[in-house]
Amino acid sequence: MTVTYLDHAASTPMRPEAIEAMLPFLDGSYANPSGSHRFARQARKAVDESRDRIADVLGCRPNEVVFTGCGTESDNMAVGGAVAAARLAGRAGVAVCPAAEHHAVLDVVEHGGGEVVGVDGIGHVDIDELAGVLDRLDASGRPADVVSVMTVNNEVGTVTDIGAVAAVVRRHAPDAWLHTDAVQAPSWVDLRHITPSVDLLALSAHKFGGPKGVGVLVERGRAAEHRVAPLIIGGGQERERRSGTHNVAGIVAMTEAMVRTDVERDDECRRIAALRDQLVDRLCADLDDVVETVPRDRKVAGNAHVCIAGIESEALLFLLDEADVCASAASACASGAMEPSHVLAAMGVDRSLALGALRLSVGHASTQADVDRAVHVVVDAVTRLRR
Ligand code: PLP
Repeated sequence: MTVTYLDHAASTPMRPEAIEAMLPFLDGSYANPSGSHRFARQARKAVDESRDRIADVLGCRPNEVVFTGCGTESDNMAVGGAVAAARLAGRAGVAVCPAAEHHAVLDVVEHGGGEVVGVDGIGHVDIDELAGVLDRLDASGRPADVVSVMTVNNEVGTVTDIGAVAAVVRRHAPDAWLHTDAVQAPSWVDLRHITPSVDLLALSAHKFGGPKGVGVLVERGRAAEHRVAPLIIGGGQERERRSGTHNVAGIVAMTEAMVRTDVERDDECRRIAALRDQLVDRLCADLDDVVETVPRDRKVAGNAHVCIAGIESEALLFLLDEADVCASAASACASGAMEPSHVLAAMGVDRSLALGALRLSVGHASTQADVDRAVHVVVDAVTRLRR
């Protein structure tokens, strides 16, 4: 039986062109790009060319692109590195983020004693509260050093207007660096419109058809000038910003996937939104009490997030898994009891409804057949559970 994969927000299948691009660097051109011989220089050239092509898609300069090991590392480096840099310069090192951020940001902010700001009913940062928190920090003599707001929420798909957030940060905390976790964005958003508004931007290759274990942190403007403190030190690669031998094959494959994603984005958004709309419309038509968590015009094309009354996601995911449908819920079992996801809790979704959350994420590999099968399996599973 073929698997119906509707979990692209968790990870995507690799694009064939990305696999093809990486193969020569796994078998043949395997030299360390930091070396001085001809084979090393070949690998170095591949890394440099990748940097140029990625900068072109992101709308930044090549020397602003730092290759990392994953999205989590990029986020940790942006927020933790900004806090560390501020403390080295004698400031308090205060980070601020909304409550619906991915844990790769949220945990770093909380661990460093930073401030967490509320979100509205669709998971969008509460702009007035953000302005108030920045003013309060400034008045207390501990002004914010870094503000981190994600471009696209990984659970519910909400898109944030980063330009509007940047305007508030510039007005209320002019010296703070602005970071955006754009890990979920490249398939849906042209990042050339985002990068100019921020100092730091994090990406992860496996979310857009590249391999796992490679990511990007863009460091630009003041963050580049005053230097984010590196997380990993040693060999001095990436101009001392991220040491460690380059993952040449991963970088080359990520680049191919990113360029391809950029070229196909407009057509794919139309195709995928039509599949997603059909998926949600049919679930809502065939089942009672299915609530769409965020309106479609506020979120990315591939996200179908619903809360299904009267069931628990864990039981639903078990039945979907048995039928080879891959989906996700993001609620977690804590101390023996099911807890709703921190994102839904922050959005104020009723607890009993949040426990029936289901995320079906459509992506570049999805087809009409996937939608047809998923509707059939989900409707059948929910009906059985309700019975
Ligand atoms: N940020 C967001 C919004 C994500 O969705 C993810 C992955 O789920 C990450 C960060 C972490 O990325 P990685 O899996 O590459 O560590």
